[in-house]
Amino acid sequence: MNKTQSAPKKTASRGHVIINAEECKGCELCIAACPAKVLFLTDRFNTHGYHPSAYLGEGCTGCGICFYNCPEPGAITVFRHWDQVTETAYCPHCGKEQKIFPKESDPSVKLCSGCLNPVTTEKTVPIK
Ligand code: SF4
Ligand code: SF4
Repeated sequence: MNKTQSAPKKTASRGHVIINAEECKGCELCIAACPAKVLFLTDRFNTHGYHPSAYLGEGCTGCGICFYNCPEPGAITVFRHWDQVTETAYCPHCGKEQKIFPKESDPSVKLCSGCLNPVTTEKTVPIK
């Protein structure tokens, strides 16, 4: 890049991945399989004594390869078209505003993309 070129604009990640730390056994298969190299093993323990994997927070393409390589049902949730998800709500479990998405088995229920718990879409105010 020469001095007159501006840095490329940071674009929103096309995909997003959530690892359920309690379901993860730390086998690292998802980490090895991810072409974008955006997964890593944490140094904390879950309640089963495993080091769960986690997402760096950006760079996921939504390809789903980690999901198909994971032997643990429910450990990985992949979102495609993450950059097009615009609906947000305050999640009392995460304690902050998060993107929300409809639950597959009951679209009237909205789930928090941070912790996968149901959230209400009515206007809420966090309790201080
Ligand atoms: S969906 Fe693809 S890019 Fe995203 S974390 Fe999984 S393997 Fe990596
Ligand atoms: S493949 Fe599944 S169980 Fe293994 S580290 Fe990744 S999320 Fe955890």
